[in-house]
Amino acid sequence: MAGAHLDRLAAPLRFLAQRDFRALGRVRGLPALLEASLAEARSLGAPPGEVRLLSEALAASRGRSIDAQAEALRRLADHLQSPDPASAERVATPAPVSKPPPAPRPAAAAPRVSKRRAAAKEVPAPPPNPPDARTLSIAPREGPLAASLRRSGMRINPRLLAALEKKGLGRVGDLLFLLPRAYEDRRRLHTLRELRPGERAVAVGTVHLAREVVLRGGRRVFQAVLGDATSSITLTYFQTGPWMKGRFPVGARLIVSGELRATPAGREMVHPEVEPADEGQEPSVHFGRIVPLYPGFERHEQRQVRALVHRICSTAARAVVDPLPEPLRQRLGLLALGAALERLHAPDDGDDLNALAEQRGPAHRRLAFDELFFLHLGLALRRQGVKISPGIRFQVDQARLDRARALLPFRPTRAQERVFSEIARDMARPEPMHRLLQGDVGSGKTAVAAMAAALALQDGWQVALMAPTEILAAQHHRTLQRLLGPLGVDVALVTGTGSVGDRRRARTRVAAGRAQLAVGTQALVQEGAVFDRLGLVLIDEQHRFGVLQRHALAGKGQRPDVLVMTATPIPRTLAMTLYGDLDLSVLDELPPGRTPITTRVLFPKQRPRAWSALEAELLRGRQGYVLFPLVEASEKVDLQDATRGAEELQAAFPGWSVRLLHGRMAAAEKDAAMEAFRRGEVQVLVCTTVVEVGVDVPNATVMVVESAERFGLSQLHQLRGRVGRGTEPGHCFLVASMAGGAEALGRLRVLEETSDGFRVAEKDLELRGPGEFLGTRQSGVPELAVANLARDQALSAVAAEEARAIAEADPRLARPEHAPLVHALEERWEGRLALAGVG
Ligand code: ADP
Ligand code: MG
Repeated sequence: MAGAHLDRLAAPLRFLAQRDFRALGRVRGLPALLEASLAEARSLGAPPGEVRLLSEALAASRGRSIDAQAEALRRLADHLQSPDPASAERVATPAPVSKPPPAPRPAAAAPRVSKRRAAAKEVPAPPPNPPDARTLSIAPREGPLAASLRRSGMRINPRLLAALEKKGLGRVGDLLFLLPRAYEDRRRLHTLRELRPGERAVAVGTVHLAREVVLRGGRRVFQAVLGDATSSITLTYFQTGPWMKGRFPVGARLIVSGELRATPAGREMVHPEVEPADEGQEPSVHFGRIVPLYPGFERHEQRQVRALVHRICSTAARAVVDPLPEPLRQRLGLLALGAALERLHAPDDGDDLNALAEQRGPAHRRLAFDELFFLHLGLALRRQGVKISPGIRFQVDQARLDRARALLPFRPTRAQERVFSEIARDMARPEPMHRLLQGDVGSGKTAVAAMAAALALQDGWQVALMAPTEILAAQHHRTLQRLLGPLGVDVALVTGTGSVGDRRRARTRVAAGRAQLAVGTQALVQEGAVFDRLGLVLIDEQHRFGVLQRHALAGKGQRPDVLVMTATPIPRTLAMTLYGDLDLSVLDELPPGRTPITTRVLFPKQRPRAWSALEAELLRGRQGYVLFPLVEASEKVDLQDATRGAEELQAAFPGWSVRLLHGRMAAAEKDAAMEAFRRGEVQVLVCTTVVEVGVDVPNATVMVVESAERFGLSQLHQLRGRVGRGTEPGHCFLVASMAGGAEALGRLRVLEETSDGFRVAEKDLELRGPGEFLGTRQSGVPELAVANLARDQALSAVAAEEARAIAEADPRLARPEHAPLVHALEERWEGRLALAGVG
């Protein structure tokens, strides 16, 4: 194997393999390379296994997990190297028309991948491949457009129909709402003579000759000669088989798209994309215009799909009901939905190709607005739905407020006071509170939560606090027991670990109402967790939980008040989109006496600087964290790194106690390690990301993060918030392994420059885009296919404003002109709006 479509990957893969795939940041344009190779592999019908490897590598390269990416590339490299008779060394022989391209890399030059690596393949299961063909989430789910193609009465080639159905594109609307993956400029087809070496272009010609050629060394290639009135060129494919002849029948007219190369023997395209050009009934669909290419289909299938979409468009696009009110559309200058779809599939001649490529032309803009608008409208209604149904009206009087404040061992900051009164006011109202509390690490959110809990408890209600990890739940359990002790409250810890008996006893206490406060992990929302009188729900570190979990916990009571806390400062635009159904409070002030954390980015060689700083702090009786990244995809290797790190540190600091703590340890072990660190018996805690959220050990003043480039900026910002929680200055060292390259270092420098979580978050969002910024936890909201929250912030703001105006003016969307909105909402949110009634 190892056809020419893989040649371009050989050098980068070899480079990466030599560095154990840890130098990903240093290979520029990898996604583009993969994309090109994938396109070629598809166009020449490479074996499905190969196409899959390529598309997995491409998907991973666009994802956020470096390890998934490394693993996918590793598999690809293994494949490149795998012995295969066809991959015998290729030697250029004089071919009748032209030579094969200069210096195709022999397979022997493919990356060497160590045996160990190759054998370690069993470790991570590759993430499931995202479906190639993606229909916009706004495709109607009922009505004529939801009719199946099979029963639509349209005459469709049975093989095409089967292929479409297999891809989940069995309905008329699926094709109408199928987003093209790219466009090709065929407004003017070039003559073969006009093609310029080194440039990509589209031309049309007739097949004069097509055959397999055996090169010296035994390698077979497939070559076709394409000619027109002006010239001829050779098309060369390094993958061949009986099927190739069928794609290049002599005398057939073909559209070729690719890059021309001039070789001593003549002009040539290697692995061009080819589409039959036999002008059938609808020449205008495929020629003389900008044509769409659809995802999920091989190149030779494009024509058929395009023709079908065209037929559907010409009949169905006009039948599309536009859910957006006409005046709104007029005011914002948006295309009607049907017109936008038509233009999506058949751009105007005057359309800007770059805009099309970047999905920001008028058609895409309309569709993006549509997605954002219904997202915001859903959120706005959900929020109103929550507000409309009555909840608990807590008795809040001055004495109770004072009592709550008095529980804190310190004076609340002004910000804490302000947020607490916002919460108290919400709680005193009959409608349920739904509030998001944002505050940088260490800003004192827990203290605010404790005061809110005190209000509910004094009124005889139960309170639940959900935290994302066992360690954090345990810490909150301890803190709240201490703070709320004076109220005589029984605090239960509800987690998924511990003895069955303990767990059952904790649950029984909660169910019977004997435990007034339940602190726990997700175990709190699981079935079997029952409350007697749940009045207030507190959720820590919201971004870890999906919207649905939040609602599930709230569903354990009769419309309890809900306060969600997050330390990830989410840029406002994004916060509105994600948490549009929540009111927002911000703790924008740190408790007094904090000294800012100094942050330094270090090269691995400079690590001794971090260690001497650690030693200096240890000598002063302080403690420190040394952090290693851990991701599922490369867990084994990561754990080895952390374990080795702990051993090295213990050797380097023989006088101190170094302890390892990672997420895969048994809960009891974790607790023991954390407890020992908290009590100061352990001075250096070597850990994976378990300390990421919320752990509070004020005596810890140093944090060293290894392979820091593997973390997101916001995550690092949270991590460094673990040190400098007391009055001692904190020090954070980010050791960037060289793998990340200069880019990664530049990114990390942001943290040297600012300690403002919001600025870090903005930067992070800018650099990584919202998907990665937020992780994959967007569950519970409709998917966005065209809109991009980072790029389309302005459009999103407009959509939000319009949605809110409508929701306010007509909260139940009862006006006749809003009927299409109701319909569209139901389809797009797929019933998830019903959650409003629960929360
Ligand atoms: P967050 O949850 O926002 O990261 P915490 O509530 O854990 O922050 O508070 C961080 C540390 O600051 C804790 O040790 C807490 O006791 C302390 N703290 C909180 N509020 C104040 C305050 N007003 N004055 C002094 N210390 C405070
Ligand atoms: Mg916290």
